[in-house]
Amino acid sequence: MIADRLKARIREQGPLSIANFMTEALFDPVEGFYATKDPIGAGSDFITAPEISQMFGELVGVFVLQSWVDLGRPGQVHLIELGPGRGTMMSDILRTARALPGFLEAAQVTLIEASAALKSVQAQTLGPSGAQIGWADRLEAVAPGPSIIIGNEFLDCLPVRQAIRHRGQWHERMVTLGDEGEFVFALGPDLGPDSALIPERLRDLPDGQLAEFRPGDLQVVEALAKRFAKAPGRALFIDYGPALSEPGDTLQAIRAHAKVEVLDAPGTADLTARVDFESLARAAHQQGLQSHGPIGQGDFLARLGLEARAATLSQSAPEKRAQIARQVFRLTDSDQMGDLFKAIALQSPALPEPPAFSAD
Ligand code: SAH
Repeated sequence: MIADRLKARIREQGPLSIANFMTEALFDPVEGFYATKDPIGAGSDFITAPEISQMFGELVGVFVLQSWVDLGRPGQVHLIELGPGRGTMMSDILRTARALPGFLEAAQVTLIEASAALKSVQAQTLGPSGAQIGWADRLEAVAPGPSIIIGNEFLDCLPVRQAIRHRGQWHERMVTLGDEGEFVFALGPDLGPDSALIPERLRDLPDGQLAEFRPGDLQVVEALAKRFAKAPGRALFIDYGPALSEPGDTLQAIRAHAKVEVLDAPGTADLTARVDFESLARAAHQQGLQSHGPIGQGDFLARLGLEARAATLSQSAPEKRAQIARQVFRLTDSDQMGDLFKAIALQSPALPEPPAFSAD
């Protein structure tokens, strides 16, 4: 079991950072949560927006098509998805894309997926689409060229680090072993120069407060900036988290649609933490990219035409009217996914404002 191996490692090498614990629990190639099975969907561990309704992927498809137009309809465009899960969103995007002549001929789809189990689900889902589809391990491995990059609930599962303010300094929060050999949190070493990674708004918090920071998200922004410096591109991320950096521990574990103890049984639950959109946008600016948003998922979908799409679907399948209304509610209501989930666009400087992000 992962738990046993992590315990042996802690006994030999000392406490682990939260980020290391998270990486092992999610991506151990044999026993990691994502590595071993398909955890997404109503019957499994958690459900995501594209799995709630086809309308989500269709409207992201509208965003993608407009982005291709904004890029000048290049004859070759990379459509890259980070963390595609079951491939459902891409399948809905590609179906929508048939409406715009030329796009599917131009698009080279690349899926960036760490889990072997999910790669095979993606191949099954997308086989019938007829599009040119390939996989890559990382963004850096995709051939250069104009690109549209999307990721839904991708950034939230990249490893997060946590720091606790102690006697005026930031210390890494670690995982170690308690008296009975169970996993417990512990105060680790002073962060030293890594204190610069603490979100700006949180740097001067008083003793006892906790701040999270997300080196994985920053690496993604760096990779985007490098890519967009060679050829123009636009990225869209949809995820959950605050618009402005907030203090506090947001690490959560979900198994079978219920919250469970974070340190309990690594590998058997999804571990995520809120995305810090303020830090994401700041990192993008520092790397020379433009950012738009974040805006709530509810507004994002509404501006892309959710109401009209729901009406069309309900007309063609009147028996599904109530179900479609429930889906709209889940995706957009402010007590459901409408506000906590947000969309942000990061793009090369010369592009027009992305669809759905304009202020009016
Ligand atoms: N976008 C999908 C799945 C979200 S779950 C949906 O909305 O349903 C997170 C996805 O990101 C999974 O496919 C997971 O395996 C993948 N993932 C997480 N970290 C990754 C990494 N570092 N590299 C590639 N894929 C990763």
